[in-house]
Formats: sequence, C-alpha cells, structure tokens
Amino acid sequence: MGAIASPEYVQTSLAAALSLGLKKGSFKQGVFLTGLNILLVYKNPCAGRCAYCGITASKKEKKSTFIRVKWPVYRLDDILEAAQNVPNRFERVCVSMVTDARAIDDTACMVQKIKSSLNFPISILLAPTVIQSKTVLKDFRQAGADKVGIAIDTATKGLFEKYRGKGVDGPHQWEKYWDVLSDAIDVFGRYNAGIHLICGLGESEKEMVDCIKKAHAMGAKTHLFSFFAEPDTLLEDLKQPQLSSYRKIQIARYLINEKKRNSGAIHFDDAGNITGFDADIDALIEEGYAFMTSGCEGKNSRYAACNRPLANERPSQAFRNYPYEPKEADKDKIREQVSSIANDR
Ligand code: SF4
Repeated sequence: MGAIASPEYVQTSLAAALSLGLKKGSFKQGVFLTGLNILLVYKNPCAGRCAYCGITASKKEKKSTFIRVKWPVYRLDDILEAAQNVPNRFERVCVSMVTDARAIDDTACMVQKIKSSLNFPISILLAPTVIQSKTVLKDFRQAGADKVGIAIDTATKGLFEKYRGKGVDGPHQWEKYWDVLSDAIDVFGRYNAGIHLICGLGESEKEMVDCIKKAHAMGAKTHLFSFFAEPDTLLEDLKQPQLSSYRKIQIARYLINEKKRNSGAIHFDDAGNITGFDADIDALIEEGYAFMTSGCEGKNSRYAACNRPLANERPSQAFRNYPYEPKEADKDKIREQVSSIANDR
C-alpha cells in the first residue's frame, strides 16, 4: 500500500462511499446511512488477531473487508469535501482506531480536522490495547469527540480470551478493555461511552444480559451486533444466532438501557435462556425502537445515528437491526419473530 496511510488516507464503508457519491450504486429502497464511519488504515494490518474480524493479522487471506462489506480507501480530504457538497443524511461521524500505536496521534489529528470541516458530532471507536493512559482520552475529547465506543464484543472473559486473546495469540486483554471503558466514562461522562457486543459467539442469553447490565451499571450503554461471519476468518463457518434469540436480547438491552428496568424484569431457565419478560412486549413492538440499530445517537434523535444498514445480514434477509423506525409491515414481521416469547405482565 506504500504511502497510503492515515492520517492522510482512511477507509470508509461501501455504504458511505455510495452515500457520498464516491462509488456508483444505491441501497435498498428507503434505507439511508446516517452514520459516516471512517477507519484508520496502515500498511500492516491491525495488530489484533480477533477470530471473526476482517481486518486482522489472523485472516486466512488478506482482503479489504470489515463487517462483511468492502471498505475502499480514500484521502480524508476527499471524504470531507464530498460530505460537505453531496446531499446526505449523516448525523454523526465515527473514527475507528485500529490496534497500532500510530493510531493515537493520527486519530486526534483526524478528529480535529473533521471537527473543523463538518458540523456533525464525532465518536471514536477506541482501540484499548494501545491506550496507555487517561490523557489519551482527554486529548480525544479535546480534539472534538463527544462519544466513544469500545468493542468488547464478547459477553464473557472466556470467549474474549478464546477469540481475541490467548486463544488466537492475540494482544487484547479483557481487563484492559473494561479499565479503558471505566476511564472513558470518567472522561466523556456517563452514557457517552458505549460497548459493542456481538450476539452469537457462544454465550448464553443470560451471559449476554449480565454483560449489558454490568456495562449499564458502570455508565455505558450497549450497541448490539448480531454475529454474521466474515469470509476467510477463523469463524467463517459459524452460523448467525437464531433471529428469535437476537430479538430477545434486543428487548433485554432496550429494557435495561432505555427503560432502566432491573434484573427482575427478565426471566431465565436453568440453561440461561430467556423465558419471558415482565414487560408489555406488544407495546415495545408498537414503539419499534427496541428493534432498531443501537449505537451513538445524533444531535437530536433518540435513536442511533450510527444505523449500520445491512451490517448484520444480506439484503435478502430480514433486518436484524432496523436502520429506520420500523413500519407497520416490519412490526408484523417482528410480531411473528417474537411470538414464542412469554409476556409475564
Ligand atoms: S456505535 Fe457506531 S458511532 Fe458509536 S462507537 Fe460504535 S461504531 Fe462508532
């Protein structure tokens, strides 16, 4: 890749490139991208070796994919110019670090540049392994970021070690991720730091709910993802979680993060499966928010600006995370998908 590296060059999602007119094509009808994601890029791949990720050193083949879609490389200046001039629906920009020591200075420099060019709030998806002090987080805030995310990804320490740590000879450590989360909450404020969690990596529903609750009690909301295998990764053959199971976790996350419900509202069997909720599920479906993408909000919206359309499914499949407010036909589908969940009210 030669001199093509951050901070001058970045990767952006194919969806963003389409929305900015940098690539030809369009989305599914009626679907718009509201979060502009930018990923740092270097000659060497991310030093992480996560078993499911498309940009890591542990990939079987090196292709430029990340959350299953192509991430083309552009000059940051060209992306900013397009975002200023091409009509778009963006409500937030997110700069994703990679595990590379250069990413610290480059991220601060890029956030500053974005802040001076665009009038959107800015998130940073942190790479905790290279963040050695709270000062880094303060510098990021000073540069212009108002929210941060931490991709803890796995619901348990055992799965973290298996897929991101020792199990793959990777550098990441569970405790370090939670320590940086705690620092990020101090620096950015409660609920301005969030965690990414991926459902379907082998956790029980109870383990996922416990992790969401733990983060919420600390002051972090959860941004949920449904596992969807990246080709050429170690987990390329792992199936998506059952949609009905994912819907239950979406409901649980919504009750904990947005309705401030406590543990008694979610019931489990001995195997850790959710058996019911002490909540009006019909009303939640009617509202629709629980089934939308969860992530960093925009300036004024109550739902995620980071709407990640088609990040967890093929265009032909039902949305796992609705990137818009579910319409009546969508709600009918959701009703069928959750029909087996007991409503204990
Ligand atoms: S939820 Fe979206 S905007 Fe927020 S940190 Fe994660 S990827 Fe970035």
